[in-house]
Amino acid sequence: MNDIAAAVQLSDLAGLDAQDQQDPSGQSGHNEVTVRGSRRFELLEKSIRRLTGRAIADFDMIKDGDVIMACMSGGADSYTMLDTLRYLQTVAPVKFEIIAVNLDQKQPGFPEHVLPQYFERIGIPYRIVEEDTYSIVKDKIAPGKTTCSLCSRLRRGILYRVAKEMGVTKIALGHHRDDILHTFMLNMFYGGKIKTMPPKLIADDGENVVIRPLAYVREADIKKYAAAMEFPIIPCNLCGSQPNLQRQAMREMLNEWEKHHPLWIKSMFTAMANITPSHMLDRSLFDFAQFKPGQGKEASGDTLFDRDDKLDQSQSVINLL
Ligand code: SF4
Repeated sequence: MNDIAAAVQLSDLAGLDAQDQQDPSGQSGHNEVTVRGSRRFELLEKSIRRLTGRAIADFDMIKDGDVIMACMSGGADSYTMLDTLRYLQTVAPVKFEIIAVNLDQKQPGFPEHVLPQYFERIGIPYRIVEEDTYSIVKDKIAPGKTTCSLCSRLRRGILYRVAKEMGVTKIALGHHRDDILHTFMLNMFYGGKIKTMPPKLIADDGENVVIRPLAYVREADIKKYAAAMEFPIIPCNLCGSQPNLQRQAMREMLNEWEKHHPLWIKSMFTAMANITPSHMLDRSLFDFAQFKPGQGKEASGDTLFDRDDKLDQSQSVINLL
């Protein structure tokens, strides 16, 4: 555990019992509104902070002296990330700076005053970058087609360039657990690959380090938190893009699973951090040609699914969340 996780554990876990930790946002009471200041809100906030601190620690995301560029779209995820990072700044023994950056892509109707007003109200350094990627996307993509892929590529390139100009050491994005799961499923179902959005990576330009501090946090919890905090959310459909139908399908499928088989989701997420290359089919990860009997026994061999007894997921799954 690194310093940030330790600080969060000490300050936030006091008073949280096991039940609280399992159900921080009241998933059992599905559509309940979480009111700021209530016990439920307190638990939700603690859970988000705890999971963020843990992800930061697990992937060594933040070090002493880091300058973090928090990418702010104006969506619930980015506000929650910024809010949680700012909290961690106050309790972590490591010192790091945060600069909020918004890329104004010139979508029609983008309320350009909202984010600057918010940053000034909370007193955080910020920069607004203005680049008309909207016109480029509209020009290049046929009407009715999904524009997100080109739009995101352009946005990424600009943010990487700005990060270098500003001399930041990390670029923080607000992707959460559900984004990671959807991407995992998309890659598997449509891309023929086992891969997803990692919590930390070297960016495509080979120079910037990207981190995803909310990697362990559920989207549903972020939404409840953002609503309770009354963040000034900027809607994400201003560009008029058609939703990506494949991603939408993954979202619907996983939402169904979450409702009826929540342990499947936990197990799947845990599985991403628990890979056994010798029990997959990727010859680049395991040398099937060279291994010989007597070289050691695979602890998690084939036995698990050979057993006759029904698997008890709560016993067999290491619950990350
Ligand atoms: S929804 Fe619009 S702004 Fe967002 S990534 Fe897609 S095209 Fe870009």
